[in-house]
Amino acid sequence: MKAQVKSSESSLHGGSTPSRAEITKSLDDGLFELIGEHRHEQVSIWHDPDAGYRGIIAIHNTTLGPALGGTRMWTYENDLEALIDVLRLSRGMTYKAAVAGLNLGGGKSVIVGDPNETDRGPIFRAHGRHVQSLSGRYITAEDVGTSTSDMEFIREETEYVVGLAGRSGDPSPMTALGVYRGMKACAQVAYGSDSLAGKTVTVQGCGHVGYYLCKHLYEEGAKLVVSDIDDRKVKQVVDEFRATGVAPDDIYAVDADIFAPCALGAVVNDDSITLLKVDIVAGAANNQLDEERHGDALHERGIIYAPDYAINAGGLINVNAEVEGWDLERSRQKASEIYATILRVLQIASDAGIPSYRAADRLAGERIAEAAAAKQGVA
Ligand code: NAD
Repeated sequence: MKAQVKSSESSLHGGSTPSRAEITKSLDDGLFELIGEHRHEQVSIWHDPDAGYRGIIAIHNTTLGPALGGTRMWTYENDLEALIDVLRLSRGMTYKAAVAGLNLGGGKSVIVGDPNETDRGPIFRAHGRHVQSLSGRYITAEDVGTSTSDMEFIREETEYVVGLAGRSGDPSPMTALGVYRGMKACAQVAYGSDSLAGKTVTVQGCGHVGYYLCKHLYEEGAKLVVSDIDDRKVKQVVDEFRATGVAPDDIYAVDADIFAPCALGAVVNDDSITLLKVDIVAGAANNQLDEERHGDALHERGIIYAPDYAINAGGLINVNAEVEGWDLERSRQKASEIYATILRVLQIASDAGIPSYRAADRLAGERIAEAAAAKQGVA
């Protein structure tokens, strides 16, 4: 598997990998230009050869609160690719937290190394010291290539880590709740009613989030058509929620009302877009648009798109409970508010005549600008 690194820091959306030429150009432009392009506040690079640790922490923006974002461990082709990835991911976290109405900033970290490394203690303890050196400006959590047991090593060195075993727990039910609520908001706009009873929803991926999403939809009376590359997961959803299973490649062409991508990124692409017959695309997957122009294409075709980072913020809300000391009910309430968030995003899109993915960026930018202005007013 290859690291998903987007082609430039100019985009929050879109998932293509930068060419070597693009990476070299980024470096030729200068390190501070690269970091300054999207006004990252701080990038910290830490090397501990004895521990086998090479890590980068990027803090994009702390206007709304401490920068929270997971630690990714990956075998990047080169160090600059790792830097570009962490800059992009940390910026995405700023927008995600802002749109979700959380008092969190955006940050992320990457550890350059094999995610299957077995001697993990020294590496993650070193990462914990790195996190601690930032004195709470950055709070970490698990991400691709890391696990809750890695977070335990980090916790030995710093309190600025969330998502530990026995705390907020599996984020998937909260993510699914948020996606379900966001999907209902899309239905309200598309059909004048947010009822999903009788609607046909295609769900790509019956994993952690997909399973719980199917449960919500089944309980409301939606008809489910599902796919997964793992037949056992399809069978479970077919058995429990009276879904119809289809082959992975066939999910896009199903005649349905709503498509919910809950597996992979970049699934809204040149190939799928010609096949989709739905009114709404609303799902949990990160980076659903292959490129920004695919968001434009959905807009042009009149397909309502719930921007991925706005509708799948339930997982972030779940770990934020540890930062804020929220109980489960408070987190569920916050995840349910994704309904109002998606309505607002779609309203901005409609008023301004812009695609919804741009409207989400605008909403996030406005919230950060308001908070920055309020801070300046106080100062
Ligand atoms: P998961 O790994 O539990 O489930 C993904 C499922 O997709 C797996 O069952 C896998 O077999 C299946 N899959 C893979 N390729 C497929 C294909 N080509 N066609 C159909 N199915 C395929 O992951 P998850 O935690 O359920 O997350 C799903 C998506 O939502 C991911 O993109 C993830 O980044 C995103 N997301 C998850 C959370 C969360 O709380 N878990 C939060 C935000 C975003």
